[in-house]
Amino acid sequence: MHAASFFTGALAALAASSAIAAAPLSFDTSSPACTSLTPTAIGGAAPPPSVLSLRWLGTTNFELVYRNQVILLDTYYDRGPRNRPIGFTPSQVTRANAIYIGHGHFDHMSDAVSVAAQTRAPVIGAPTAIDKALSMGLPQGQAVTVRGAGETQRYNGFTVQAILAQHSTLAPNVLSAFQTAITAAIGAPTPDQSAAEAAILARGTFDPRVFTEGTIAYLFTFDNGFKLIYRNSAGPITDTERAAMARIGGTDVAIVAYIGQYAAERQIAATLPIVKLYNPRLYLPAHHDEIAGTFLDIGTEPMFMAIRDQMPGTKSLSPLYREPVCINVDNDFRTEIRNDVQNLRDDLRNLDLRNLRNLVH
Ligand SMILES: [Zn+2]
Repeated sequence: MHAASFFTGALAALAASSAIAAAPLSFDTSSPACTSLTPTAIGGAAPPPSVLSLRWLGTTNFELVYRNQVILLDTYYDRGPRNRPIGFTPSQVTRANAIYIGHGHFDHMSDAVSVAAQTRAPVIGAPTAIDKALSMGLPQGQAVTVRGAGETQRYNGFTVQAILAQHSTLAPNVLSAFQTAITAAIGAPTPDQSAAEAAILARGTFDPRVFTEGTIAYLFTFDNGFKLIYRNSAGPITDTERAAMARIGGTDVAIVAYIGQYAAERQIAATLPIVKLYNPRLYLPAHHDEIAGTFLDIGTEPMFMAIRDQMPGTKSLSPLYREPVCINVDNDFRTEIRNDVQNLRDDLRNLDLRNLRNLVH
């Protein structure tokens, strides 16, 4: 066996070992952006250049900030008078480099067009979402259509790739029974509340193609190999996702929706297989908070327990609205090792073995 192939084989085994895969993430808990509840998109500080900040902004809205670039995932900030406020209004969002829409239902894109107007950021989404945004006045020049076939945008320090996903499968009888029960518990909306909710509802699409063609997962790949994936609906796994994960093996952070099935056991059956496929070191739930009249707050503990029992390399975290989660992406132990292994491989490949033999003899 060649010395080089022996070393690279051993190093590859080391890099693939579960000890490295399970290495904990390193968090920044002291920078101003990482201790403040003010999103960067509304004027808050940006994290240091080596740090990725994540903020959950209610439902499946997230803000990601890296190297001074603000990426918004979904935009449903004004959720109507019956829902808990997230702490700012859509009109306050003045800073974004891009707006990604996971799918075009109202509870994912109702503020996309107004936020795009204020930030001049492009809106990226499936045709069903982008067509709806265009019909509401999004300028053509800010519209980017993706079909989840691997379309990729490049930013400073990372890329974002669109992967076709699928919307959650809701049982109509369960949905209507719960809606009736929720109304019995909290009462029906007043006419003013109904009008406000109807206006928000109208800023999303009801196109049935959203379910199979219009739900997109977004894969963020940082230059050192660190990976984050976002999926805003917990539907069936697609072949496109399986192929993507077969290629990359896993992720570092996965944000996956956790709503729609009402009972924890049924919801775990929908969400956990996706989390297992994405195989992250850190799982963040999304969509687990109330949408008045339709969804109750669903407890995340049963899901987190299932992950702890079945995925020992994965931690779960449920931050509060606007609370920063700051990850030292550039100092990440696992991605550093991954890079070291790649560099050693390259060194060994370039090593002149005749010189090595001369040294040995
Ligand atoms: Zn939906």
